[in-house]
Amino acid sequence: MQKPDEIMNDAKKYAHDIIEWRRDIHAHPEIGFDLPRTSGKVAELLKEFGYEVKTGFARSAVLGILDTGKPGRTIAVRADMDALGMQEQTDLPYKSETDGACHACGHDSHTAMLLGLAKYLSEHKAYLKGGKIKLIFQPAEEGPVPGGAKLVVDSGVLDDVDAMFGAHAQPLYVAGHVGCKYGDAFASGDFFEVKLTGPGSHAASPHKGKDLITTAAEMVSAIQNIRTREIPPLKTAVISICSINCGKLETKNVLPAELTFGGTFRTYDDEVREYIAKRIGEVVEKIADMNGVKAEYSESFNFPYFRNDDDVIDTIYHSALEVLGPDKVIKKPDPEMGSEDFAWYTKKYKAAFFFFGIRNEEKDCVYSLHSPKFKIDEDTFAPTLAVYVNTVYHLLEDDKIYEGK
Ligand SMILES: [Zn+2]
Ligand SMILES: [Zn+2]
Repeated sequence: MQKPDEIMNDAKKYAHDIIEWRRDIHAHPEIGFDLPRTSGKVAELLKEFGYEVKTGFARSAVLGILDTGKPGRTIAVRADMDALGMQEQTDLPYKSETDGACHACGHDSHTAMLLGLAKYLSEHKAYLKGGKIKLIFQPAEEGPVPGGAKLVVDSGVLDDVDAMFGAHAQPLYVAGHVGCKYGDAFASGDFFEVKLTGPGSHAASPHKGKDLITTAAEMVSAIQNIRTREIPPLKTAVISICSINCGKLETKNVLPAELTFGGTFRTYDDEVREYIAKRIGEVVEKIADMNGVKAEYSESFNFPYFRNDDDVIDTIYHSALEVLGPDKVIKKPDPEMGSEDFAWYTKKYKAAFFFFGIRNEEKDCVYSLHSPKFKIDEDTFAPTLAVYVNTVYHLLEDDKIYEGK
């Protein structure tokens, strides 16, 4: 293991490469499971760094294995490679060259950071106590359901892993800071859709048809009552309806014959999760019956909620303290109501997830994840890489992490 200041010094030497890879990936975003260019680049670089490379699983995932040749633990680190199906609105010289796709969730930085870790570890192999490092680059964190992580877990390529971690860019934190959440980390994230159909009618004679809009309004209000009136106040849950589609703004004399709406529900409790899914269906069915409207309801269980492994998050926290100092390491007070497909790893492996800051007001890096103006302060790469490296060292060496296992 290296000393913290040596790690920080060496990490700085990799920032240039990370920036170059990240900008290239940023300019050529790919979505979902279909990532030939990105996964091809990752596999090529891993081979160049001397890794054993495995592909052809989880549709387009890439696994890089660094074997120290000495006995020891197997530690995995994960990055997601996929972009979002939206248009970038920045003036960056390396902005997306693909219409309708951009890296607005920072997965380009996750991929480039993990490549930086790959290169660093291959050039510092002598400092690794023993065992293997498995770097997993997965597709489809942003979907489609059930996300790339589920397919990686099901493929079994990580089944020998003793501990694992991943990280996400966080625009709320200044670049060079990291945040760790002990315990509950990310909520479950599930979706539902409703389709209402009726005969439609002239707006002047609603009694001759069925009004889907007033019916949907009743449903929306009743669905919110599931959260406020049926779930205990101290249980965490949120239901949001995110779209209603019906009619045309310019048409003011027709009651339409079709309406759709959809949304999401998020919670930290499996019973509450099942309950909400079931109750939205019942509420939709009953109100549709009452109004004489035909309703179809479907839900998709997407990502489960997860809590960080106590030992792994504690290792990340203390590794970050060593390389960054106490002013730059945040103990995150609250869990997220957002979801992450990293959840699938935590269900099977000893795993935890943390955040690295990317904010810089002067460089206009202030926009939220999934904003078309999302930007990253690339000065975050060296300090964050140092956290990755120190965490890997500790996970390989600290026996107490595994005592309860
Ligand atoms: Zn995202
Ligand atoms: Zn993301």
